[in-house]
Amino acid sequence: MTPMNQHKSDKTPVTLIEGDGIGPEITAALIAVFESLGRPVIWERATMGANAFELAGEALPDETMASLRRTGLAIKGPVQTPLAGGFRSPLVRLRHEFQLFANLRPNRALLAEPGRAPLDIVVVRENTEGLYAAQESYVAVGDDQRAVAVATAYNTRKGCERILRFAFDYAVEHGRKRVTVVHKANVLKILSGIFLETARDLYQGAYSGRFVMEEMIVDACAMKLAMTPERFDMIVTTNMFGDILSDLAAGVTGGLGMAPGANFGERLALFEPVHGSAPDIAGKGIANPVALLFAGALLLEHIGKAAEASRLRAAVAAALNEDRTRTPDLGGKANCAEFTAAVCRRLQ
Ligand code: NAD
Repeated sequence: MTPMNQHKSDKTPVTLIEGDGIGPEITAALIAVFESLGRPVIWERATMGANAFELAGEALPDETMASLRRTGLAIKGPVQTPLAGGFRSPLVRLRHEFQLFANLRPNRALLAEPGRAPLDIVVVRENTEGLYAAQESYVAVGDDQRAVAVATAYNTRKGCERILRFAFDYAVEHGRKRVTVVHKANVLKILSGIFLETARDLYQGAYSGRFVMEEMIVDACAMKLAMTPERFDMIVTTNMFGDILSDLAAGVTGGLGMAPGANFGERLALFEPVHGSAPDIAGKGIANPVALLFAGALLLEHIGKAAEASRLRAAVAAALNEDRTRTPDLGGKANCAEFTAAVCRRLQ
């Protein structure tokens, strides 16, 4: 069972984590927009990342873990992770502790582009298996201790079924017409083959006729995403392919500043923007809060507040396209606070 649609009470407690860099700026925007929506949730503030490490000596403090266990629901800004040394990535720990197996990345093109079909592509990525769960090692040859680099990847039938069922259920619940199952079973006949085989069995057994399932090899998928993205509705794939294709889909639909993501496990649903902490613009007040606001819309949908989610998305679209209020990354002159005010006005 995923925690999909389990929280339907009127005011749901949600753990709110600002994160690092531009995190506090875009979180302020999220709080203001939720105020204008009539406070549909109760925030429970917690810390994570480099700020938490500096303040409390821990990147993922015990109080934060306790809050996540209590609420089972969280929304977070980006956290900065040192490339080498420093603290262990709190995100990796969260993924492990809560078995966040499903990564959902809806990509909708919002900036109106005349003459182009509106893009709306949902990518579902398996988050715990595949090559990224690799045991890596070197094999020595002669004097060279690191002559050969080896990684072993695995996919389990249970893990494949869990992510495919998640994606297929999402397709049915959200009225998606076509799900593209992306694989490389022509080369990785066993590793990728088990994913494709499981998809065929599951579709035939329980989903046939409810949407169309198509199969596509990952390299062909990358080319088609770049050339004819409008042909895609939903994609489901394994860990590494999903990592790459979800960023590609974000790129063709407006860039990382616009893309939200959600991670689902047995006991936690975690919503976040796809982008990082943007240290180059942190503190300047010019960050684009749209990705975090859309993560907020996903959260609202998840807790059964679809009407509020639609209002939020419509207000953002109106601020961008009708009021022409845009932050510098979208070619505009507005700062984060001005853009937020424009969204809030649209909600009154
Ligand atoms: P980044 O996404 O932070 O920045 C890439 C570029 O996009 C920068 O030029 C930045 O200014 C711009 N950008 C990103 N978000 C923006 C926004 N909302 N508005 C306007 N411009 C925006 O990627 P990076 O520089 O590779 O990573 C910086 C840090 O973020 C690293 O420590 C990395 O580990 C971390 N990170 C965290 C997450 C996460 O918490 N989920 C995800 C990715 C990266």
